[in-house]
Amino acid sequence: MEFATFAERAAAIEAESADTEIVAAVADLFAVAGEDLGTVARFVQGRVFPAHESRTLDIGPRLCYEAIARAAGRNVDADAVERRLADRGEIGAVAASYDFGGQQGLGAFAGGGPDGVTVAEVADRLAELAAADGDGSQATKVDTLFGLFNRCSPQEARFLARLVLEEMRIGVGEGTVRDATAAAFDVPVEAVERALQVSNDCGRVAVVAREQGESGLDGIALAVGRPVKAMLAQAGTVTDALADWDRAAVEWKYDGARVQVHYDGADVRLFSRNMEDVTDPLPEVVETIETALDRPAILDGEVVAVDDDGDPLPFQEVLRRFRRKHDVARAREAVAVRFHAFDCLHVDGEDLLDTPLEQRRERLDGLVPADSDVVSAYWQTDDPDRIAEIERAALDAGHEGIMLKDPESTYTPGKRGKNWRKRKPDVETLDCVVTGAEWGEGRRANVLGTFELSVRSDEGYATVGNVATGVTDAELESLTERIEPLVTAEDGQSVTVSPEVVFEVGYEEIQPSTTYESGYALRFPRFLAVRDDTGPAGADSLSRVERLAASQ
Ligand code: AMP
Repeated sequence: MEFATFAERAAAIEAESADTEIVAAVADLFAVAGEDLGTVARFVQGRVFPAHESRTLDIGPRLCYEAIARAAGRNVDADAVERRLADRGEIGAVAASYDFGGQQGLGAFAGGGPDGVTVAEVADRLAELAAADGDGSQATKVDTLFGLFNRCSPQEARFLARLVLEEMRIGVGEGTVRDATAAAFDVPVEAVERALQVSNDCGRVAVVAREQGESGLDGIALAVGRPVKAMLAQAGTVTDALADWDRAAVEWKYDGARVQVHYDGADVRLFSRNMEDVTDPLPEVVETIETALDRPAILDGEVVAVDDDGDPLPFQEVLRRFRRKHDVARAREAVAVRFHAFDCLHVDGEDLLDTPLEQRRERLDGLVPADSDVVSAYWQTDDPDRIAEIERAALDAGHEGIMLKDPESTYTPGKRGKNWRKRKPDVETLDCVVTGAEWGEGRRANVLGTFELSVRSDEGYATVGNVATGVTDAELESLTERIEPLVTAEDGQSVTVSPEVVFEVGYEEIQPSTTYESGYALRFPRFLAVRDDTGPAGADSLSRVERLAASQ
């Protein structure tokens, strides 16, 4: 396909505003793209290489201005191009405003011609350009780009400039390309979507859709060494998660950076969330994986920076390691990193994207020796108190909090859905008076484990909920020592406590309730601390609870 034809179509797509018309125009373009279909499917989104590739053009705006200036003629320099950009606001318009060599040829008017640039040629030149490296590579890049611009009509130059700077801006995103592929080659959108998720290569998916139809798309599988997009989480609450699912999978939320591990049985490659290859900067993760795995696999997880005691450091430290290209050994000495695997997408030729989380975790456990410390902690429970305990343990260990996941959910690359939820931090806390308690069970029969919480009211105190406390036995013992002397009555496991001790409590929401005297219930209440600095007179009142409930 002539690049002029591509540019003409791109201009027509840009002029459309309705989504359906845009999809139809892109589908038409795909239908006539011939052997350039793969390239066209990328170019139309302003992409030069498949999304899973680490390859980049690495062309800064200034380099592009220089190439344009050179093609524009003797009295134009990069500063002049930049000034024109400030005036016109968009590089395509600037490139189209100069008379390049391509305008003089007949080809420009006919939309192509003997000297016309083809789509394939643009792709080849840009690939060469991406490969230029080392001393003099900037000059080579300018030369190559100049060579292309010099043969461009204004319309071609408009889209070449935008492509080079990866800002196509004609209203075509991944969703448009997906729908256009389905429409052009009469295959189900779902099959295209799945193939895109698995391959991360819209060009290849378009070609397979055209040549092999739906069955070809279904045959596209994950490949070790080719990263997929990470599944993402949205904010959520424990109460909603437990209402939506029978049980929740609970994991620690590590404060680091996402890393996908690809092990082909011999070599390890690591990819960041943007699918950049970060293998070289993270040698200790490579070593860990080489030791831990004995079969090819793709793992998803988080890399966390740790101090000398193994305690987590702020995530900025990890990013510093990611960016480190030279002197990696020295960087490694300064800040060590650790990998925590929380998912498994592929094992030894078998893709697990459609396997429920619960089973993916089993596969992960089976893959990595238990003592290797690679697999992150994982629980399943329907008990909010247990979740509160896990959250406290996560925070105590210096992590960010917890993730809640539907144990039955599949792995959906690139999707931010309700199947993974990061628990929102509490906005407010309440200071509540302890007015009752319950003895624990089994091993914990000698300690008080659950405490009744009240706020001040006109009648004295009104209950708002119960909170389970303590992750460790020591914590429970010290609270028991504190509160047992205040017991005024016992009824089985329950005791009444003289209102003297104040707990600071976190919660997700305040709900109207008939269970408690206040008429409200705290959802997912969590013990944070004993307020030693205040007595019951300093505790929160029912009117504050009413105000907080009204302002939610
Ligand atoms: P956020 O960046 O706040 O949207 O939170 C989502 C991110 O948390 C993910 O992209 C991961 O990088 C990170 N994360 C840490 N621990 C986990 C975990 N156990 N499961 C999933 N994501 C996690």
